Amino acid sequence: MILERAIKQTLRGSIPAPLRRAVRNNLPRREQLAEARLFWERQSLALVGQRRPRARGRILCYHSTGQLEFGVNDVHPARFRRHIELSLKAGYRFVRASEIAQTGGGPKDLAISFDDGLKSVSTVAAPILREYGIPYAIFAVSDWSDMKHPWYIDRALDWREMELLLEDGAEVGSHSVSHPDFSRIDYQRAVDELCISREVIRQRLGFAPDAFAIPFGQSRNWPAACAQSAREAGYRIVYAQAEDTRPEDTVARTFVTKHDNDHIFKALLAGHYDRWEEWF
Ligand SMILES: [Zn+2]
Repeated sequence: MILERAIKQTLRGSIPAPLRRAVRNNLPRREQLAEARLFWERQSLALVGQRRPRARGRILCYHSTGQLEFGVNDVHPARFRRHIELSLKAGYRFVRASEIAQTGGGPKDLAISFDDGLKSVSTVAAPILREYGIPYAIFAVSDWSDMKHPWYIDRALDWREMELLLEDGAEVGSHSVSHPDFSRIDYQRAVDELCISREVIRQRLGFAPDAFAIPFGQSRNWPAACAQSAREAGYRIVYAQAEDTRPEDTVARTFVTKHDNDHIFKALLAGHYDRWEEWF
């Protein structure tokens, strides 16, 4: 944003309007600047981030594996498999996310979760995980899986696909009705997002989930009042983001991005990103 503002200020008044418009239209969009910053942060923290001893398990958070439209949140299938192989080689054991949430797990315990309930979990990630006998959790956005949002048709899992993954042993939780930023919605809307998504999952899959993953998941996306609302809605576990910054009474997860090569992934397992939050 600072770069964008500086360029705009430099241009103002000194260049003819048509040329100014042409330059402005080619300025990097906010998303591109955000992605550049994320790339830089991932790289630099791998080098200078803090390695820290760990007493408990770690839950990884992925989104898609092979759906490029999800940008930084899309991990290439080969890279996803590589993360599993690196983890196993380093002596980690994969357990259920709920096990780490409930017991803390041991320092060599890892769990895999997927936010947003996207198609490639079924077509790409689940077959790989099945090969290795690794459990996983999925957090569904009920309107997206209900195909009420046109852009997510063919991009999100429908309930039948979700049901097959459930039969395959996946844990399924809620990720809200429409993926809002809970810091920007009023109290009643927050209650509805929590309660209605849980009820829709109950109707579609036959059970009411006891776990909720906060949309966006950053500390600022979860106002204090939401914790109480989530408990009243029937959730026992609320998954967030980074270990050090997560809101009280939430379970930490470590977000994994498309940039996470071997070097970054090893740093991630060593705790270099335990204060880092993806901020899109
Ligand atoms: Zn999400």
